[in-house]
Amino acid sequence: MNQKMEHLKNIINEANDITFFTGAGVSVASGVPDFRSMGGLFDEISKEGYAPEYLLSAEYLQNDPEGFVDFYHKRLLLADKQPNAVHQWIAQLEHEHRSLGVITQNIDGLHTDAGSTHVDELHGTLNRFYCIQCHHQYDKASVMTHHIRHCEKCGSPIRPDIVLYGEMLDEQTISNAIQKIKAADTLVVLGSSLVVQPAAGLISYFEGQHLIIINKDATPYDRTADVVIHDDMVSVVNAITE
Ligand SMILES: [Zn+2]
Repeated sequence: MNQKMEHLKNIINEANDITFFTGAGVSVASGVPDFRSMGGLFDEISKEGYAPEYLLSAEYLQNDPEGFVDFYHKRLLLADKQPNAVHQWIAQLEHEHRSLGVITQNIDGLHTDAGSTHVDELHGTLNRFYCIQCHHQYDKASVMTHHIRHCEKCGSPIRPDIVLYGEMLDEQTISNAIQKIKAADTLVVLGSSLVVQPAAGLISYFEGQHLIIINKDATPYDRTADVVIHDDMVSVVNAITE
C-alpha cells in the first residue's frame, strides 16, 4: 500500500464522526448510468425527439403525464441494480457508529439498499413513489414488481420521489445535509466532481479536521483537501479495508 493510502486508512480508522458525500461515481460499479450527466439517456434524444432534460422535467410531467410514466417505467427503473463494495463500506461504518451518515446526489437508492439509514438524498430517490394528485405513497415493489402506473385511490399517475428539472430541492434535506457536514470531524467525498449546486456550496460548510476527496477527475476542492485520490472508488475502498 502506498503512503497516500496508508494516510487515508489512518484518518478513517481514527475518525469518529465521518460524513460521506457521494455522487454518480460510487454507483458506476453497480452499472447505474449517470442520469444527470445524461450519458445513460442519450438514446432517448433520437428515439423520442426529446432532450433528456425535458424527459426528466416537471414540464414534461405537466404536459404529458402518461408519456412521463411510460418513460420512467421503461428507462429509469433499476430493478436489477445492487449496491457495491463502496455502498456497503459506508453502511458498515454507520453501523459501527463511526459515521453520521451519507449525503448523496444519486437517485438510485443504493445507499438505503446497502443498509445506510441516515441518508440525505438531495435529488430524491427511485425507492419511493407517490400519486401526483392525492400524494398517496407507493413503495418500490408496487411500482417495479407489480408495474403499478396509476393510483389505486384516485386513478392519477404515480411519479417517482425524485427532484425533476424545474423543481426545487427539499429544504429539510438540505438543512439535514448542512448539519451533517458541520458536525463531521472527517468529510469523505466519493465520486462527485463538486461542480454543480448544491454540492459545491454544501462542502464549504465543513469545519472539521480532514477533507478527503476520491473521484475519477479533479474537483474545485482538491487543493484544500488532506487526501486527494483520482482513482476507481471500489479499488480504493478495497485497498483501505483489506
Ligand atoms: Zn391518488
